[in-house]
Amino acid sequence: MTSESSRRPADSAATASPDIAEMTELRAIVASAGNATTLSSACEISAGGHRFEVPVVTLGNPDPALPAVGIFGGVHGLERIGAQVALASLRHVVSRLRWDDALHRQLDCLRLVFMPIVNPGGLWLGTRANPAGVDLMRNAPVEASERVPFLVGGQRIGPGLPWYRGPAGAPMEPESAALGRVVERELLGRPFSLAVDCHSGFGIADRIWFPYAHSPAPIEHLPELHALNAVFDQAHPHHRYIFEPQSRQYLTHGDLWDWLYQRALARPDQVFLPLTLEMGSWLWIKKNPRQLFSRRGIFNPLAGHRQARVLRRHLAWLDFLMRAAASHARWRPVGAEREVERQLALARWYMPAPAKGGKA
Ligand SMILES: [Zn+2]
Repeated sequence: MTSESSRRPADSAATASPDIAEMTELRAIVASAGNATTLSSACEISAGGHRFEVPVVTLGNPDPALPAVGIFGGVHGLERIGAQVALASLRHVVSRLRWDDALHRQLDCLRLVFMPIVNPGGLWLGTRANPAGVDLMRNAPVEASERVPFLVGGQRIGPGLPWYRGPAGAPMEPESAALGRVVERELLGRPFSLAVDCHSGFGIADRIWFPYAHSPAPIEHLPELHALNAVFDQAHPHHRYIFEPQSRQYLTHGDLWDWLYQRALARPDQVFLPLTLEMGSWLWIKKNPRQLFSRRGIFNPLAGHRQARVLRRHLAWLDFLMRAAASHARWRPVGAEREVERQLALARWYMPAPAKGGKA
């Protein structure tokens, strides 16, 4: 792998990494792609006396005038299914390179970036946090505008408790900073880009979250999100995703995607839509209560058939996002249509729910 500079190099006494299953799979997929993909390392970290690379795979047309999609996973080391969904999408694309003309036409006008193992140390150690005990999704320099739930919203008490943000004023963790550099280099600076970050663990339904996580305020690109959701609903009328701003569920400090979205806003001539796929894992537990007693099992489907179903189900969504990005000029609202879409989105997601027990 070619390596970028990392602000905090891994411990030089650490030995090269033992293979994580997801890393082995990523290398096999890249090898099968011939020279169609580029594998690089966004940074190197150390965990448990070993060194690990944070891999990035790119393919498609690098021209910055073209749209791009970034697929991310493994930010939380315990949520292996997120890394596996991102890898399944990469495999789905690479396996079609040999025969699919429509895919080649799509890649002529689209850039794809895969970062499926953002937190290899956490994957290796079986922890949500990175090896320093920091929750990468609470690590960005973003403060919530209102009270956040105790601990879950992000805390600075210490790495012994979950959802640790890292010390106040400290630089971002190497993995968070690396993700930021990849987004900055590959997605921002284009007229249109989409990101989807694959997680698991909240609730029983599969959710598609968009910013903000730090504030209940609506974001500027609400019209584009509402229109994207509408074309998805039309193409996949029986899908089971709940599409909503994360702030409808809970607020947090330090969300990486809020931070990156706000950086993108500084360039008003471009649209960057960061989405989070939050796979509802409580249903897997309901169907197999023994999973409750397995730390791995709270966040991942243990039964093979269930895992296969999860991987299969989300391929259609990720494939849709690639098509939507490549064809953004056909469905993106412009001019007065943006205000219409914004009003519909505000009514759907930002109006208070009617009081229960009131007048009909
Ligand atoms: Zn997560």
